[in-house]
Amino acid sequence: MRLLLVEDDAMLGKSLQQALQAQNYVVDWVQTGLSALAALQAEHFDLAVMDLGLPGLDGIRVIEEVRDQRLPLPILILTARDSVQDRVSGLDAGADDYLLKPFDLNELFARLRALGRRNNASAVVNELSFGDIVLDTVSHQVSYQGQPVVLSRRELLLLEVFLGRPGQVFTRQQLEQSLYGWGEEVESNALEVHIHHLRKKFYNGLIQTVRGVGYRLNTGGPS
Ligand code: CA
Repeated sequence: MRLLLVEDDAMLGKSLQQALQAQNYVVDWVQTGLSALAALQAEHFDLAVMDLGLPGLDGIRVIEEVRDQRLPLPILILTARDSVQDRVSGLDAGADDYLLKPFDLNELFARLRALGRRNNASAVVNELSFGDIVLDTVSHQVSYQGQPVVLSRRELLLLEVFLGRPGQVFTRQQLEQSLYGWGEEVESNALEVHIHHLRKKFYNGLIQTVRGVGYRLNTGGPS
C-alpha cells in the first residue's frame, strides 16, 4: 500500500518512514501541509499518517481540504498527549483515527492495518486471497496451493494491489505509483518484469494484459 507521511520533525519523520517501509508500505514523506495537499492531488495514496502541528497550513486544515474534495483516504493523526482539543478537532475535521505521541510503533502498525482493511472490500482479517493464493498482510507471507511462495518486495506489493481489487483494470501509471515512491527510479520495463515473475510464480493467466489500458487480475481463473 502507498502511504503519505506528513511530519515536520525531521528525526521522527525519517525514522517513521524507515519503520513503515520495513512494514512493506511504499512511503512518501512530506514536512508541510501544502506539500501534503500537493501530493494528494497529484497521486493516489491508500493511507495517510498526519502530524497536526505543521508549519504554515496545519494538519486540521489539510484534513478539511481532503474531505472537501471527497478523497476516500483513511487518515490517522498524530497528536501530542496534552492536546485533547487537537484530537477532537482532527476527528471532527474527518480523520479516521489518532495516536498520541509518543506512541508504540506496533500500535501504529496495527491501527494502519485496521484502516487499510476498512478501505478494502475483502472482509477476512489480515488476509487477502484469490483462488489458491493467500497473502497474509501482517507477516507478508504468500502461499499458493498451500505451498509458500517467495516474492520480492515489489512483487508482493503488486500482488497486494491486484488481490485487493480482483477484476479491476489498473493502468500502468496506477501500478507504478503503488510500487514506487518519489525519487525511486522506475526502469522502463520494470513493471512488465514484475508481472512476468508473478505469472511464473503462480500461473500464466493470473494477470491479464488489457491492451492499450493496463492489467487486471483475471477472475476467470487458471486457463
Ligand atoms: Ca509537528
